[in-house]
Amino acid sequence: MTTDSFRPKEKISTFYPPQRTLLGPGPSDTHPRVLSAMARPTLGHLDPVFTEMMEELKSLLRYVFQTKNLLTFPVSGPGSIGMEMCFVNMVVPGDKVVVCRNGVFGGRMIENVERCGGIPLVVEDKWGDPVDPQKVEDILKKNPDAKVVAFVHAETSTGVQSDAKTIGQIARKYNCLTIMDTVTSLGGTPVYMDEWDIDAIYSGSQKCLSCPPGLSPISFSERVVDMVKNRTEKVHSWFMDINLLLGYWGSTTRTYHHTAPTNSLYGLHESLVMIYEEGLERSWARHQRNHEALKAGLETLGIGYVVDAAYRLPQLNSVHVPAGVDEKEVRRKLLNDFSLEIGAGLGDFAGKIWRIGLMGNSSKLENVIFFLEALEHVLTDLGVQVNKGAAPSAAHQYYANNPTA
Ligand SMILES: *Cc1c(COP(=O)(O)O)cnc(C)c1O
Repeated sequence: MTTDSFRPKEKISTFYPPQRTLLGPGPSDTHPRVLSAMARPTLGHLDPVFTEMMEELKSLLRYVFQTKNLLTFPVSGPGSIGMEMCFVNMVVPGDKVVVCRNGVFGGRMIENVERCGGIPLVVEDKWGDPVDPQKVEDILKKNPDAKVVAFVHAETSTGVQSDAKTIGQIARKYNCLTIMDTVTSLGGTPVYMDEWDIDAIYSGSQKCLSCPPGLSPISFSERVVDMVKNRTEKVHSWFMDINLLLGYWGSTTRTYHHTAPTNSLYGLHESLVMIYEEGLERSWARHQRNHEALKAGLETLGIGYVVDAAYRLPQLNSVHVPAGVDEKEVRRKLLNDFSLEIGAGLGDFAGKIWRIGLMGNSSKLENVIFFLEALEHVLTDLGVQVNKGAAPSAAHQYYANNPTA
């Protein structure tokens, strides 16, 4: 055996990805400022210059989450690790946990509760509907010993937003801690962690924060920190135990826990600086404006929304596929002919809806116009009667009638 017998037989060289326009359910397009920040020299994760940047990262995250919580930092890993981190720390075997399910991600929360040895009490709502707070109250009345209420603020599988403020109030009334998923909402629609009295929150870097995937911003209230400190049984994960992570992210004398992904963190820092420069409200308003323009364009094609206007997410547009159209072929042609990605439906919605993301850096006028134009071409190619030019025109009209403040 020579070393060469293990060498790949095929010719392999540097990977150059094509330039796409990412208008799916995430990742969104990474902003060039973020990419260039990530290309800067790697520092040691205990370097004092790096730890200064970490402090700024923490205060910027407090701004986007709208919280004063000291324990606010990005976990090394995708949004799913933020989710696991909340459950593994806050659910002790035998605990009753109310989980609201109105899409894919609520289902994953149930899975997390079970794996932590907890007992899920499931509040079910239809896909495309928001969580019904009355059902949360009813189940808590029947289960006064429940410990935690968990729900998804912005359900990416359906494009629906739930009433976090009301759910937060109900959970507090029944003495429960709350876990809220803001992977898709953060940066795109209002999130007020403290005002809504939410105890644990997690997000992801690749949706409305314009970063590549791989980081999960989280924040925990003092109540959670106290609860975890007082657990008699050790947290069932070494990596995610907040007691141990506090030594690295929580104090100014950093002790080694794991090697933080330094360059990725430069990227998140830069993306948060961009939101800080733009202003949170203006970022929310931008997402709303681009959503409205897209909607105006889609209307000319007779394409309607899955979710009621009152609960619709501007950053995740779930729309009905027109009757008789091969939705997969449309997505394939958008990708092949226009290098543009949109998302398919999941679960019961598979084959029936498209999910058009206008998240973070992807939420901009050029993308709305480009997508509508591309969609008109693709539908025409597939034999659908289209009044060419009407959709981008309607979007343009919306922009013209609604200039930014
Ligand atoms: C994308 C997403 C996640 C999972 O994030 P990953 O980075 O893919 O692990 C969790 N919850 C919601 C609502 C999401 O949209």
